[in-house]
Amino acid sequence: MLKKMLLGLTGDQLKGLAADLGEKEFRGKQAADWIYRRGCRRIDDMTDLPAQFRIKLDELWEVGRSSVEKISSGRDGTFKLLLLPYYGELVETVGMPYEGRFSCCVSTQVGCPVGCAFCATGAGGFKRNLAAGEMIDQVLTVGEAAVREKMLAADGRVSHVVFMGMGEPLLNYDATMAAVHLLNEELKIGMRNITISTIGYVPGIYRLASASLQLTLAVSLHAAGDGLRRKLVPNMSRYLLKDIIAACRHYINHTGRRITFEYCLLKGVNDSHAEAAALASLLKGLNCHVNLIPFNEVQGSDYRRPDPAVIMAFRRVLETSGITVTQREQKGAGIQAACGQLRRQSGPK
Ligand code: SAH
Ligand code: SF4
Repeated sequence: MLKKMLLGLTGDQLKGLAADLGEKEFRGKQAADWIYRRGCRRIDDMTDLPAQFRIKLDELWEVGRSSVEKISSGRDGTFKLLLLPYYGELVETVGMPYEGRFSCCVSTQVGCPVGCAFCATGAGGFKRNLAAGEMIDQVLTVGEAAVREKMLAADGRVSHVVFMGMGEPLLNYDATMAAVHLLNEELKIGMRNITISTIGYVPGIYRLASASLQLTLAVSLHAAGDGLRRKLVPNMSRYLLKDIIAACRHYINHTGRRITFEYCLLKGVNDSHAEAAALASLLKGLNCHVNLIPFNEVQGSDYRRPDPAVIMAFRRVLETSGITVTQREQKGAGIQAACGQLRRQSGPK
């Protein structure tokens, strides 16, 4: 029988657990240090906890770390890990070094129920939600691998987290938010260094707005008209673009935070001048910026990446309308780093 995961419990929950097992509360704080700051994998290795407490804990609990099944490295320092999480199935997580920061791209589900037309994760179907502890495990494991590969100093740590791996975070809201709070409180990652990317699940955007957090919300649009959006994102077609934009406006007003709109550029599909102009008018007056993501080609997919000149022209239309545009660097291009690609290649486990 699988035991329960300690990873994913807050410091207060660990203190409560210690008290329930007849120990002083500070033993829970010590356990939190072992799990979140010292990367401890086995209860028995928490050597400053009394042996009796460790034995009692061990009856029902396990730390709950994953094992690394595969690692692939890109030339630019990006690396991707294929992990076997505690509760099974394979997930991907990516480590990305940037100047002065180290970012981890976290998966929130195994597979994804949304099934966007161009996305390798969606094509593989939906398996299950990940638990908060399994999300934190990805950040810890990426940090450890980065130290091993000498991309981070021995005392270095992951500084930024983007929930942009496999899955739709707002369809696994509670676990994702529990992970956000653990990252902030136990791993000391600033809220402003945390980004949640959603495909535009409107009820989730309102719910996140009411949490009033200083994290960054990224909304994947991919189209400026409902007809095209329905083709690219079929399982969210009950939410029209006007509803998504209204939810985003509410989010901006409520949190004071600027929204990032992601737009995956697909050759001959959503990369025209007219589409760029429609996007500019859709976003007019919103406190936002646009992140253009040239399509990362997926094996077996008919979609292609537009030529650089087309990408540049698309970008110019937005910029001329006063919208700030960033373009995702082609990080990890050689390592199947687009969402869902590595798991697909390895086949389900
Ligand atoms: N489900 C969420 C978060 C995960 S996907 C969402 O869709 O926003 C993170 C981003 O990667 C999304 O903007 C998605 O459109 C993009 N993406 C997925 N597959 C891609 C590919 N093959 N090439 C480029 N971007 C891709
Ligand atoms: Fe799911 Fe995001 Fe991929 Fe769409 S792009 S299938 S929402 S992971």
